Amino acid sequence: MIPGCILRNTIYERRYTISSFVVRRSSFVGCFLFAVLLYGCQCQLHKDNRVLMGTFVEVASADKRAPEIVFAEIRRIEALLSKYKPESEISRLNKTGKIQASPETFYVIKKAKEFWQASGGAFDITVGPLVDLWGFTEKKYRLPDKESIAAALKLVGSDKIILNEENYMIEFKTQGMKVDLGAIAKGYVLDCASAKLKESGIKSCLINLGGQVYALGQKSARPWKMAIRDSRGKGFKKYLELEDKSIATSGDYEQYFIRAGSRYAHILDPKTGYPAESGIVSVTVSAPSGLIADALSTAIFVLGKEKGSVLAKEFPGTKIEDISENNDARQQ
Ligand code: AMP
Ligand code: MG
Repeated sequence: MIPGCILRNTIYERRYTISSFVVRRSSFVGCFLFAVLLYGCQCQLHKDNRVLMGTFVEVASADKRAPEIVFAEIRRIEALLSKYKPESEISRLNKTGKIQASPETFYVIKKAKEFWQASGGAFDITVGPLVDLWGFTEKKYRLPDKESIAAALKLVGSDKIILNEENYMIEFKTQGMKVDLGAIAKGYVLDCASAKLKESGIKSCLINLGGQVYALGQKSARPWKMAIRDSRGKGFKKYLELEDKSIATSGDYEQYFIRAGSRYAHILDPKTGYPAESGIVSVTVSAPSGLIADALSTAIFVLGKEKGSVLAKEFPGTKIEDISENNDARQQ
């Protein structure tokens, strides 16, 4: 059993730089776009960065132990949850359809299933076969035909994940199912990393994990200050003050491809099998938990502004900080 971080909140309880701590929202293989920026005095902060979980991770804290604590925790959880690591529990589950999981992996899948329920199926980690089909896993993008989408859709639905609390068994009901934790794992990592920092007596730290941020405590007796960039990269839209909060952004500019003048982005609608067409270009959510901010921003992106706002209200302490829409969903 892995002695790890399980945060027992219930679902109802989510690149470069250095001098200025610019935060990029995206996998470094995808489209680069700054989403948020740390501004204000950068004095006396120890900063370090790595490429982990396929993205840039940057840590800033007055305590010089903080970056290594955060990086170690990210590596530990990546080894469990990454579908890109062949030995991870998630890879083994996707390969065999059944595993006896660590309590941690079990916990994250259980939370994901709760989000599936709460979002009426908009958030669904079983989109794995669709993510593969559209080429987002390998970054070899393609427009699938209708038959292939219909076949992949038969493998989608978190109701087909069987969880046994007693022995942490996770089992798929249908052969060929695959889970993809890309919309929730980073948030969980942020929660665990901040818990590790607290355990070590570190009260103040800012972690940027590929554009998803956790602000632990305060910076120089004031909340951490962040600026959200415009989703198409022009200037700043909003300024935020964060303290013991996470922010997550889901957008159509992170990973996408253009075919025949239309944009196809990486967040898929589990009902249609196509990239979500809710009209949202980008949504930024703040929450006391990274996991909740992460899952919620993805769910809202699929649901759209109206239904997404109703969903956000179910989670105390969460807020839609910014939302941009474009009614022509396939715009470039
Ligand atoms: P995020 O950037 O947090 O919104 O997560 C997007 C990633 O989650 C995608 O790159 C996919 O790996 C995965 N994903 C895509 N569509 C969904 C969905 N409807 N529900 C859950 N995960 C999804
Ligand atoms: Mg997410």
